[in-house]
Amino acid sequence: MTRKRKKQKSLIRDLAVQRIERLFELADNEFGQNPKRSDRYVYLARRIGMRYRVRFPSKLKRMMCKHCRSYLVPGSSARVRLRKRYITVTCLRCNKQMRYPYKSRKVKEVEDNKLA
Ligand SMILES: [Zn+2]
Repeated sequence: MTRKRKKQKSLIRDLAVQRIERLFELADNEFGQNPKRSDRYVYLARRIGMRYRVRFPSKLKRMMCKHCRSYLVPGSSARVRLRKRYITVTCLRCNKQMRYPYKSRKVKEVEDNKLA
């Protein structure tokens, strides 16, 4: 691939990410009145992601169900619980769970000190 094409490709991907972010914004706006439309926006965002092979920004990844792809709003379409080392997000549509590890500040400090 020539240098020029490579550059073009990354521009297209930038644009794709922007479109994905925009779709999530729309999903957020619609959720109150029309949650089904939010799911549709998420679906479209996913399609763009696959089409241009871009990664979803991690904050957006957490806003959709890994299993049924619906748009997740904590307290409304999802239940979020903190465990010791991870967060569980339960999708209230398909009742499946997703887990995301996190580190409490204390654990992180201890580990940082170990490395130092
Ligand atoms: Zn689900």
